[in-house]
Order: sequence, then C-alpha cells, then structure tokens
Amino acid sequence: MDVTPFFGHIIDGKEIESADGSRFVTVNPWTRESWAEVALGGALEADLAIAAARRAFDEGPWPRMGFGTRQELLHRLGDLMESHTDELAAADSRDMGKPLAQCRHDVARAALNFRFFADHAKMAVADTLPMDTGHHAYVRFEPAGVVGPIAPWNFALMLETWKVAPALAWGNTVVLKPAEDTPASAAILGRLAIEAGFPDGVLNVVHGYGPDSVGEALTTDPRVDRITFTGETGTGRIIAAAAAKNLTPVSLELGGKNANIVFADAELDNAVDWSIQSIFRNAGQICLSGSRLYVQRPIFDEFLARFVAKAEAMKIGDPLDPTTEFGPLATEEHFTKVKGYLDTVEAEGGRIATGDLGEGWVVRPTVLVDMPLDSTQVREEIFGPVVVVHPFDTEDEVVALANGTPYGLDAQLFTENLSRAHRVSARLDVGTVWVNCSFIRDLRAPFGGVGSSGIGREGGNFSREFFTEPKAVIMQVDSA
Ligand code: NAD
Repeated sequence: MDVTPFFGHIIDGKEIESADGSRFVTVNPWTRESWAEVALGGALEADLAIAAARRAFDEGPWPRMGFGTRQELLHRLGDLMESHTDELAAADSRDMGKPLAQCRHDVARAALNFRFFADHAKMAVADTLPMDTGHHAYVRFEPAGVVGPIAPWNFALMLETWKVAPALAWGNTVVLKPAEDTPASAAILGRLAIEAGFPDGVLNVVHGYGPDSVGEALTTDPRVDRITFTGETGTGRIIAAAAAKNLTPVSLELGGKNANIVFADAELDNAVDWSIQSIFRNAGQICLSGSRLYVQRPIFDEFLARFVAKAEAMKIGDPLDPTTEFGPLATEEHFTKVKGYLDTVEAEGGRIATGDLGEGWVVRPTVLVDMPLDSTQVREEIFGPVVVVHPFDTEDEVVALANGTPYGLDAQLFTENLSRAHRVSARLDVGTVWVNCSFIRDLRAPFGGVGSSGIGREGGNFSREFFTEPKAVIMQVDSA
C-alpha cells in the first residue's frame, strides 16, 4: 500500500504538525495529482518559529561558536544534501515539474552554497584602519539576528540555500518560508540540518501562504532582523512596505524581462545554443531568462530558422524521466496566466512562429515574432517558455531597446568584437551582463537587479554586508 508522504514544519529542532492539524496537498504538475501532504502553518506557527530562532540567537551557541565550528556543521549539511540528492531532486521535480536532471544540478549547487558561504565567512578579512591621531579603527561583522528568507518555487532548494547558507555562516538563525508550491525540499533540508547536529532553533522551516499567513507574519514581526525575498515584483513592493514599519532591512530579488542581444558577428552555434537554454530551460520559469531576443538584421533569418528548429527538437515529457528536457508549467494557475499571453498574440498584432499549448499544463517552447514593442508580450514578464524575437540594425538602437523596460535584472550579448562587448556591457542598465554565455555564476560576484528587478545585492561580500551589522571599533593605541 502506498503511503502519502508528509512534510511537517521544522521548528526548534523538531518536525511538527500545525497546532490545529491543518494540512495542504502539493500537486505534481505532470500528473496533475497530489503527491504529498504538508503541514499548513499560519501566524501561530510563524510565531513559534520566530521565538525559537530568537532564543537560539540570543541564548544559544550558534552565533558564539566561531566560524570554524559553524563551517564544519555547514559542510556536514552540504555532504548530507549530496548523499540525499535523489530524494531532494525528486522532491523539487514532483513539486514543480522541473526535469529531474536539472533538479539534480540544483541540489549540487545548493550543497555548494553551504560549502562556499561557510568557507567565505571563515576566510573573510576585515579592514583595519591606522589613524593619524594615534588610534586605529577596525571593522567587526556582527550577525544581524533572526533572518527570514521568503522563497519562490522556480528554483526552490537552490534559491532557499542561496539565502540560508550565508545567513547561517555569518552566525544568524533562520526562519525559512518556502513557496507553497514547493515545500518538500525545504522540509527535507530542515530534517538534514537536525541530522547534521545543528542546535535547536537555528534553522526553522514553516510552510504556508504569503498574505494573511506565514509570509505576512514574518515580514511584520519586529523580532525578525532581516528579510530576504525572491519572487514577483508586486510581492516585493508589499514586503518592502511591511518591513518599513519596523525598519527591517530587506533584500529583494524580483522579476525580469531580460534582453538577449545577438550581433551579426556572433559565433552562431554558441549564440543559438545559449539563447535556447536562456529562455527554455525550466520551461522559461527563470527570472534571468532571455525573454526578449534581439538579433541583428543580417543574420536574423538564419538565426531564427536555427533557433526555431532547436526549440522544436526539445524533448518534452515526464520530468521524472532523466532524459526529459522540458516539462509542464508549475501550477494550473501559472499555466492559465501564460496561456493568456498566447491567446492575445494575434489581437496584439504578432504571430506565433512555433510553439503554443501542449498536453495538460505544458506550454511548448514558443517563439513570437512581429510583436509590437508596446504589446503586453514584450513589456510584461511572462515567466514561461515564450520569447519575443525582434530584428535590429545598430548598437545604439539595441541598447535603447534593451534598456526600455522598468526591469533590470540581467542581459546577454553575443559578439566576437571585444570592444563592442565591453562598450555595450557598460551601457546596459542591469545587475548582470553575460557575454557569449548565459546563467554562469560565481558566488563571489554581486547578484541582484536594478529598477523593478530588486533592491540590494547578495553573493560573497555583498551577502556579508546584508546578513551582518558592520561595526567600527576605534581604539587608542598610543597614549603618550
Ligand atoms: P511570489 O511573489 O508569488 O511568491 C514568492 C514567495 O513570497 C512565496 O513564498 C509566497 O508565499 C510569498 N508571498 C507572497 N505574498 C506575500 C506577502 N504578502 N508577504 C510575504 N510573503 C508573500 O513569486 P513566485 O511566483 O513564487 O516566483 C516567481 C517570481 O519570482 C517571478 O517574478 C520571478 O522573476 C521571480 N524570481 C526572481 C529571482 C531573482 O533572483 N531576481 C529568482 C527567481 C524568481
């Protein structure tokens, strides 16, 4: 007899049900059937978790144990995650339909988050400032306190750990709220932290919704010292307003409508391959995806023909099949939203070159051409496997097109002209530029967006700045 898996909250070192026993189900978007039950928390469970994290921070060993001991525990958690790759990857794949091979990659990256930030914190150096007055100043990075990461569903485990790992490495305690559509991997992470020997209350996980639920409780509670959020721009605005009441610092990683620019001198195979990955990986449900593709006119027709052929060749199927490249959208609600953009393509004056709806909640890799620049498909984040392709003539023209959006998360450009690569990179109003590649990350580099794509940067020293209170200590060294 099959037993339905159950995922509880992880609060104060224990896995528990909600006080009133409420549960919700999580749905596999390929089968469109529920596959697990999850404890449904609310303000009460958020309160319990914040209290546990507060106690662990104010009285427990975690902030006081020193970087080396924390480093060992964080590495142990990374090791446990790797040895549970099958379970963690299948959890994310079942929860949101991402192909298993990509979920396995996410688990490796999530484990690396713990290793990298543990090592980074241990090895970080701080400034010492000799002063002309016979004093010297030095900088201490004190842990901020209780951190509340609020995560989206599209890279559940990977983005949760991108926040949790530096927060813990710098001595904070955490109350993590995973997205309601992808609760399973976060619960497994919490179980593994207990197994790794983390002190009680250091890493708490509370399941629930945003408004009037766990998310809102976290963002309005004065016992929370940092809120780090990844999700939609509209939600980011609500969270920033909520946090402002307590003057709680927020880091916001929000939506994108990113330009992908292919110049006529680009190495064509490379540009086509990356452009495909950029918009169709994870069925386009990536904040960084190159959803506005600008191709210089001399190569427009050839590029488009190759791009369409590759899009049509992607292997669509059950995400749990290791050979599947492309799965369904994460939820019925999200499918309906993306479908809405396809329904109006003709009315808005454009044309579908390839793609459209597939089985169930699948939207096939879809390429739109002739879309007017003021159409919703060009202006709004679709967050699905839908790309708008436009020809352009000059560098100035394409820079203006690329920058012509309130978003500014990233941009990609493909060219063999070194001067142009540097020149255009400097002119793009975004947080990250990729030249002749896409999605490549270095955890030391700043990550974040400008404009409607967010506030702040995380990564390397930027994570240290956010998850600590830098303190200047000024000492007299010469009393003569
Ligand atoms: P979402 O904003 O709907 O939800 C994200 C999280 O916020 C969920 O955990 C949700 O429960 C919670 N939430 C919702 N309302 C809340 C409220 N009022 N108070 C507190 N918490 C609340 O986003 P999503 O649909 O899960 O994710 C998709 C979006 O995330 C896209 O816009 C995408 O571009 C963006 N994203 C950005 C990045 C980045 O790094 N910039 C990365 C991934 C995804």
